[in-house]
Amino acid sequence: MGRVAIIGAGIGGLATAIGLQRHGWDVAVFERSGPNSQVGAGLSLFANGFRALDALEIGDAVRAIAGEQQPLINGQRRRDGRWLATMPASATRELRVVHRADLHRVLTDALEPGSITYGTEVVDLPTGFDVVVAADGLRSPTRGTAVRYSGCTSWRGVTERPVDLLGGAGESLGRGERFGLAPLPDGRVYWFGVVSMPAGSTFPDEFAEVRRRFAGWHAPIAEVLDATDPAAVVRTDIHDLARPLPSFVRGTTVLLGDAAHAMTPDLGQGANMALEDAATLTRLLSTLPRSEALITYDRKRRPRTQATARKARTMGRLLQSRSPLRDVLLRLTPPSVAAHQLAALQDWSQPEVPSGRS
Ligand SMILES: Cc1cc2nc3c(=O)[nH]c(=O)nc-3n(C[C@H](O)[C@H](O)[C@H](O)COP(=O)(O)OP(=O)(O)OC[C@H]3O[C@@H](n4cnc5c(N)ncnc54)[C@H](O)[C@@H]3O)c2cc1C
Repeated sequence: MGRVAIIGAGIGGLATAIGLQRHGWDVAVFERSGPNSQVGAGLSLFANGFRALDALEIGDAVRAIAGEQQPLINGQRRRDGRWLATMPASATRELRVVHRADLHRVLTDALEPGSITYGTEVVDLPTGFDVVVAADGLRSPTRGTAVRYSGCTSWRGVTERPVDLLGGAGESLGRGERFGLAPLPDGRVYWFGVVSMPAGSTFPDEFAEVRRRFAGWHAPIAEVLDATDPAAVVRTDIHDLARPLPSFVRGTTVLLGDAAHAMTPDLGQGANMALEDAATLTRLLSTLPRSEALITYDRKRRPRTQATARKARTMGRLLQSRSPLRDVLLRLTPPSVAAHQLAALQDWSQPEVPSGRS
């Protein structure tokens, strides 16, 4: 098929490498970090992410680490635990939360040994390749465009032992702050706290700040924090792209994942979109002439991902709002409307390729 260089062994780069390798491409992945250096906590995978993984023929391997869904109420509640809005179970039937490190392991194991060169920071675009995929993340040096701070920072953690979620998951909302709870397949709990504050704010003891803000909220939040090793908590200021890009393609270089469309995590879709990108690019590069494949990738991916980034930012503003109207709005939105919006977000399938080409 040809030679492809992939910059970045994140979820997007690995998924693309798997897809292209399985379609006969000679794949070289360059990653600046070392192996097993992935930090992070939980990651939500939605129906669209699983469909993309299926297209890449690794859906079942990921399902094996994702386990069965637990029967929990999901939605938004107040900091005292009273529900404001709940999502019909059917809308999140395929939602699973996995540990990011587990997903990375499955993706890495699906590649032929030696496909990834670790500890290599790509400074100039690699030469001698037919296609270069820049999957180098939020601050992609290949892309070059600025990022903007969302106004919020986040702390993420995973408990060291199972904690009973007492029948509920989802997000709990304060004024300018919220706390999320999600079960991992083994009963441990992935949690995140999001707080509106100036970029770059720091605290002498970050975990003490998390406790100060959230430990007095509804059960089992204090218990979840008690069960967390403070040293394993990840702090991330949240950014997205300052401006949507006019194109994801420059010559034979193609941007993918956060490099193309970094979005705030408010819909839990960034990695899911990277998986869609990977499946789409694989399909197009394996069936169409190269330049046509890249143009089609840009045409298919830009509208959906940029619209999702806009929605994510809007959702973030709503959930972080200090206005009491936010709670009224959430209470009055019929579950069917929220379910419909979530279904639209998860509605993705492989691109059709003109007949005779596949
Ligand atoms: C707080 C938070 C929570 C989130 N939760 C979710 C969620 O629940 N569900 C979801 O779908 N998404 C979520 N996301 C978004 C998700 O993490 C990203 O969209 C996803 O990781 C993007 O994958 P990627 O491969 O494009 O980029 P990355 O994962 O950032 O990978 C880029 C890789 O490129 C490497 N790299 C960078 N520059 C170079 C270089 N010059 N040379 C070599 N290597 C380089 C980096 O080391 C890195 O390994 C969340 C994000 C945040 C911040």
